[in-house]
Amino acid sequence: MADKTYRRIILVGPPGSGKGTQAAILAEKLQITTISAGELLRAEARTGSELGKQIAARIDFGKLVPSEIIVKAMLNEIAKPENSAGYIMDGFPRSMDQVEMFDKLIHTSEYQDKNLEPDLVLLLQVPDDYIFDRILGRSQCANCKAMYHEKFKTPKVFGVCDICGGKEFTKRADDTHETVVSRLRTYRSVTAPVIPYYEEKGLLRCVDGTGPIDVVSEKIRKIVGY
Ligand code: AMP
Repeated sequence: MADKTYRRIILVGPPGSGKGTQAAILAEKLQITTISAGELLRAEARTGSELGKQIAARIDFGKLVPSEIIVKAMLNEIAKPENSAGYIMDGFPRSMDQVEMFDKLIHTSEYQDKNLEPDLVLLLQVPDDYIFDRILGRSQCANCKAMYHEKFKTPKVFGVCDICGGKEFTKRADDTHETVVSRLRTYRSVTAPVIPYYEEKGLLRCVDGTGPIDVVSEKIRKIVGY
């Protein structure tokens, strides 16, 4: 058992590194909420609002949405009273620009008493050849959004969601070869610079994300200390 249990956790890693999967496991074990930047944005895109249309246009090309939109949305979520026990942020921050905006805002009078400073940044490391395999094989229950993979995480009963019994599965529209190339390029040029920043702050821990889901989650368990 580690000395302390971390409760304000940022998950960083390339697309397909397992952030969403590991965030869901952590959330259940720690009984705190995962806030997924991608899910928040996809939810807005589904509403069909003007903002949603702008967001969808960015997501569909594997480009980041403007930082002002996502920083405010994430902050709004983590500051909710029901999330006062902590948070897991999946896919945020994704640029130094977002880090700077976030760090500034959490110290303003509106948020400074809410204890929103992250206490751990987990980097999931996975080489490129894994990434395409993982992303192109994944699907999601249309009803409860549980994630599956044709090779690495099939439902216990073929075609039936383990969680809700749903029988319809969908693929994300941006899980195409072309978009993954673009998302990876964005990750390297825009997101990766946040890693040395958090390392310097003493918050960064790296995890080899290549093994089976339970092996990776065990490594994370030891670091997080639950
Ligand atoms: P994800 O679900 O994390 O793979 O994100 C899917 C897509 O949502 C990304 O390719 C971006 O277009 C957008 N997105 C997710 N998180 C962010 C973020 N922090 N900043 C900007 N765009 C984001």
